[in-house]
Amino acid sequence: MKLFNTESRQKEEFTPSEGNTVRLYTCGPTVYNFAHIGNFRTYVFEDLLRRTLKFLGMKVIQVMNITDIDDKTLKGAIEKNITLKAFTDPFTAAFFEDLGTLNIEPAEYYPHATDYIPQMIDIIQTLIDKGIAYKGADGSIYYSIRHFPSYGRLSHLHLDELKTGASGIMVDEYDKESASDFVLWKSYDPARDGKIFWESPFGLGRPGWHIECSAMAMSILGETIDIHVGGVDNMFPHHENEIAQSEGCTGKRFVRLWLHSEHLLVDHKKMSKSLGNFYTLRDLLKRNYTGTQVRYMLLQAHYRTQLNFTMQGLDGAVSALERLSAFIDRLRAIDETKDGGAVAPLLQETLRAFTEGLSDDLNISLAFAALFDLVRGINLLCDQGRVSHKEAQETLALLEKFNGVLGVIPLEEKEVAVPRELQEALEKREEARRTKNWAEADKQRDLITAAGYFIEDTPKGPRVVKTQIAKC
Ligand SMILES: [Zn+2]
Repeated sequence: MKLFNTESRQKEEFTPSEGNTVRLYTCGPTVYNFAHIGNFRTYVFEDLLRRTLKFLGMKVIQVMNITDIDDKTLKGAIEKNITLKAFTDPFTAAFFEDLGTLNIEPAEYYPHATDYIPQMIDIIQTLIDKGIAYKGADGSIYYSIRHFPSYGRLSHLHLDELKTGASGIMVDEYDKESASDFVLWKSYDPARDGKIFWESPFGLGRPGWHIECSAMAMSILGETIDIHVGGVDNMFPHHENEIAQSEGCTGKRFVRLWLHSEHLLVDHKKMSKSLGNFYTLRDLLKRNYTGTQVRYMLLQAHYRTQLNFTMQGLDGAVSALERLSAFIDRLRAIDETKDGGAVAPLLQETLRAFTEGLSDDLNISLAFAALFDLVRGINLLCDQGRVSHKEAQETLALLEKFNGVLGVIPLEEKEVAVPRELQEALEKREEARRTKNWAEADKQRDLITAAGYFIEDTPKGPRVVKTQIAKC
């Protein structure tokens, strides 16, 4: 499998470092509000990566952290005058509910930052002992990036560009030695932090955001992990700082391969509350879209291209899913017994194209193209009566396999609610046929047809089916 490594800016052949198991770290949510669809683009992409690795025969151990300590969660808890846990728990629960709605497979580990404070303290202590971290004028502990010469290698920024900091403010106005040094441990400020603090050898305070990911990643997955993923906006400074902290501490390579997903735009603009184009997943559900439809929309664009989210795009996802649904219904209704012989090579070719597409840096467009080429090809053969029951079942089995990766194909048997009077009409028709009352049988059949349904003969006897579902 080839993946584009952000650090080398190249597609690289990927294999796990140990055996067949991929150790995967994915930056998770800060639980101070509901996640928006831009966040979910990244999580859906990470899910595609995870499912593809498994599809290609690898095992995955995935960690997704839950950031429950940072400036925003603290501010929220203090404003509401509740504990940090009372503030973050409902948002954490909502996040897991949203993952379920989007059919995102659960990670193996969801560590909370608040459960890893001792591990963070250990890393900070090591960095102090090595002379890489120091106490600033405000009592906070900072990372000195001049002690980590390869700082900037992920985002391809140079140290001299960073020296004065983005604002250009003179360094001596800071509590730290250099404007671009970043905080590892924030010293406690009663006015700002309320009653929220932890004890440490460097005084009361709380960890900085970046150290949280280094500690959770290395505690669970080991000092060197296979793949680290996140949104492109986390590349600098967050991921750059994760590298500096982890490698400064262990002296070993932290991450073998970095993947970053691009931004999501809404109507070609950056999503923002002030522009009125800001959506959480819940906003879309309120507009009667389903999790599957949103997932389909978020999956469609390659992860390294910007995804432009529009309501028309979402409606396009709805139509595509309806097409797949009609195709599946058609396959299920096939009871021909004689094989046409043309299906097997088509399935083989589809599997090849689908696998090849995903193996090439998760080229989702090629995977979807293979899927819809199959729909077209099989529909054509259906029109010619050249698909047997067995071949239809084999096609469905392939869709099932693809769905292990895509998670959007509507394979679950729908309970189509047939109105009761039509069910009764069917029973009357059957009774009329038994007594050879053909006029009555026709009358009942016409009643069903007029309501937009038709009678389908199945091995279990006749049933009433909605007309639009049965036709492709
Ligand atoms: Zn992170």
